[in-house]
Amino acid sequence: MSLLVWIEQAQGSAVPSCWEVLGQGRKLADALKTPLVALVMGEETEATAAAAAQYGADTVLTLTSPLLARYRLTAYAAGLRQAIQEADATVILTSATQNGRELCAAVACELDAGLAPDVVDLRVEEGQLVATRSIYSNNILVDVTFTTPRQFASVRPRSFPMPEAADAASAEIRELPLSLDEEQIPEKILEVAQTDGGEISLTDARIIVSGGRGVAADPARGFQLVAELAQVLGGAVGASRAAVDAGYIPYKHQVGQTGKTVRPDLYIAAGISGAIQHLAGMGGSKIIVAINKDPDAPIFSRAHYGIVGDLFEVLPALTAEFKKRLG
Ligand code: FAD
Repeated sequence: MSLLVWIEQAQGSAVPSCWEVLGQGRKLADALKTPLVALVMGEETEATAAAAAQYGADTVLTLTSPLLARYRLTAYAAGLRQAIQEADATVILTSATQNGRELCAAVACELDAGLAPDVVDLRVEEGQLVATRSIYSNNILVDVTFTTPRQFASVRPRSFPMPEAADAASAEIRELPLSLDEEQIPEKILEVAQTDGGEISLTDARIIVSGGRGVAADPARGFQLVAELAQVLGGAVGASRAAVDAGYIPYKHQVGQTGKTVRPDLYIAAGISGAIQHLAGMGGSKIIVAINKDPDAPIFSRAHYGIVGDLFEVLPALTAEFKKRLG
């Protein structure tokens, strides 16, 4: 028996939220008195495998192959199944990234196992794994227990703190041969278009500054002000769907029910009314600050701090002040 965590790689390095899952995996494995196994798949796996050992895995399984250079469900599902078998894993966790959710669901289904997708908490109660899911736009938390011997969960990024990496690690790192060839993989990657040139990923960001239709008077300047505040705070830029639909900013920035779900420490919403579909994506943020010129905007009922004012004046003032204080 073991608890296995998939450490996803993107462009050759580990996706940061996977370390949060591994950190919590360590606590769960200790509570379940079972070894913690990390799985790393990719064309290169060495550096991430070494890091997984430092973040607390007892064993690291690697599958290293050019066939795994980029995520493809068929290949990664085959690799995960092999690792589950090798480690006799009964609890399997992934970060709830797009790929993590898909892989977790697909393999859980293939193995007829229980699945708790997109959980915000995982703990052990009376020797049993209990997962908490946030449903109905973050308004209800529901506890999930499993009736199947094998249990899968994908964990929403930023649900658990980043663990400390140990200086030295003694984990066993073991390479598994991938029993699959290219002919068995129906997905072919013809071209990869790079869109995120160096930007901080929204789902991993600890600070997000988002803009909404409130920038309409001058959208280009409005989002420039949003981006400047995000930059000085070391955060990412988000947006409401109204801003995306109006063409002010690309869809990849959209936060909400049909955009990304985020959980930063600080979420600053500028010129966003606070529709339920927007709240669905950011309602779990630790601190919400709203900037809106309408004192009755619904966002103020969810915000911890509210600034009633024109974003074109408030954003530059905040940026200037943070610049002074943060150097
Ligand atoms: P508005 O509601 O128009 O609000 C603009 C706000 O800006 C107002 O409160 C106004 O007072 C304020 N404002 C105006 N000028 C200024 C200024 N100069 N300074 C300060 N404040 C100012 N929405 C999402 O965001 N994400 C989703 O994923 C999403 N998914 C959806 C899915 C479905 C099925 C549906 C039906 C809707 C979805 N929506 C989503 C849309 C959602 O219902 C709202 O229409 C949208 O969130 C509104 O965006 P907004 O707050 O930017 O615009």
